Amino acid sequence: SKVRIYTLAKELGVDNHKMLELLDGLGVAYKSVSSTIEEETVELIKQLLAEEAGADTTGATAEPAVADTTPATETAAAPAEPAATPARQPETEPAAEPVNEVPHRAPVVTIMGHVDHGKTSLLDYIRKTKVAAKEAGGITQHVGAFEAKTSKGKIVFIDTPGHEAFTTIRARGANVADIAIIVIAADDSLMPQTREAIAHAQAAKVPMIVAINKVDLPQADPEKVKTDLTQLNLVPEEYGGDVVVVPVSAKTGEGVEDLLEYISLTAELEDLRADPKGQFSGVIIEGRVDKQAGVLATVMVQEGTLHVGDFLVVGESYGKIKAMTDSNGGRIKEAGPSTPVQILGFSEVPSSGEKVQSAKNEHAAREVIAQRADQRRDEEDARDRRRAQRSLEDLLGPLGEVRTVNLILRADTQGSVEAIQGILARKESDDVKINVMLSGIGAPTEGDVLLASTAEATILCFSVTPAGGVKKIADTKGIEIKSFRIIYELIDEVDRLIKGNLEPVF
Ligand code: GDP
Repeated sequence: SKVRIYTLAKELGVDNHKMLELLDGLGVAYKSVSSTIEEETVELIKQLLAEEAGADTTGATAEPAVADTTPATETAAAPAEPAATPARQPETEPAAEPVNEVPHRAPVVTIMGHVDHGKTSLLDYIRKTKVAAKEAGGITQHVGAFEAKTSKGKIVFIDTPGHEAFTTIRARGANVADIAIIVIAADDSLMPQTREAIAHAQAAKVPMIVAINKVDLPQADPEKVKTDLTQLNLVPEEYGGDVVVVPVSAKTGEGVEDLLEYISLTAELEDLRADPKGQFSGVIIEGRVDKQAGVLATVMVQEGTLHVGDFLVVGESYGKIKAMTDSNGGRIKEAGPSTPVQILGFSEVPSSGEKVQSAKNEHAAREVIAQRADQRRDEEDARDRRRAQRSLEDLLGPLGEVRTVNLILRADTQGSVEAIQGILARKESDDVKINVMLSGIGAPTEGDVLLASTAEATILCFSVTPAGGVKKIADTKGIEIKSFRIIYELIDEVDRLIKGNLEPVF
């Protein structure tokens, strides 16, 4: 019978990467680790592994633990680890890895989806069940991220649900999330913010896992959600596609283990690594002022290690780490990659998404800041000079290659959206691809502007106009929002974008 790739990998005690390599070697086609393979292939793989083990004089046992379906805590090739250590702690790589290899790090996960579909509930459930209760007295406060301990190692969750947090961070040029969970309520299916969340994850090229939530409800219809996803070109695995869909209930906890397992699986495939000994870099998750403590900021360590006493530079200000706490409220002295830490010692409240660097000492920190201030002034001057000439030209790629015109489409009704998309689809050619990143009903939002600014998209509106605040943000970011009342005028605008005939017409 057929078997899923990751199931087989688990059974044979090899990692998924290795399994995919073997399949590649055999010329077997697959879509993802959850694709199924034929029994003959399974036999071939087993033979290959047995041969490898036989050739391996270092004495790994040739007999793979075929019958063992329990989590692969111990494999023939991995050295025994202390019992308390989960199998894949980023800090403790099996010694079999080449010595110089950069160690794995834990995945950072964000949860997005439509309002009321259960993002907060899902985070709460995971926090409740997977965060080790800290030593007495440790009060769990919201610091913007938390670490879940699973049988497959640590998973870090960004604790602010919704795509606003995700986009704000991305809009500043940082990328924090490695994996996006798109939560869709089984009784409601795809909603406008679901589509937005998907568009954001796609724009960031972050792998997605769909969690169909509320499956405990009698009116839950997970099949409808899957069918609806297919219409967005997100084809669930069971329909032959490569989108991982996991039914869950944040209320009963059903499926949550599976979801965590899929996260670990995806992380393994992404092969996330960071060097704890490298140069420190991190990103601000959130900053706030505490009446007693002063400025507190949560930093996600991305590379290197932070120590109490280090000097940090954020934007044009710096600080010295006076104290650090982990996301559980426990005092710590140092923090390595994929660790969210709350830091006391900044003088100004940093904004989420700002990049954090370290400096050797106060003098070095001041120097970095002076350089940045110079650079900023230069850039501002250059921008002022450019602003007068700024046109849609900037949004088009270099000539000669296939250009992609990124669009965000907003219209008054679903009918208009579909009509416009139908016409746009026919405008594509070998030279120009039209990429409607997001289409939706109603006026463009601040989120659209942020998406447009990270993806260099133009926002086109049909029979809707942006609110004043949204327009203002668009102006400051140099994003064009164009509103039309006649479909063919909108299409003309797209023609201009395509042709690169760039006198903007207002
Ligand atoms: P958010 O806006 O996406 O963060 O959604 P919430 O987590 O606030 O959930 C919205 C509502 O749905 C709340 O009343 C929750 O109690 C409820 N809810 C969330 N998850 C589930 C679930 O799995 N099953 C049921 N029956 N209700 C849920």
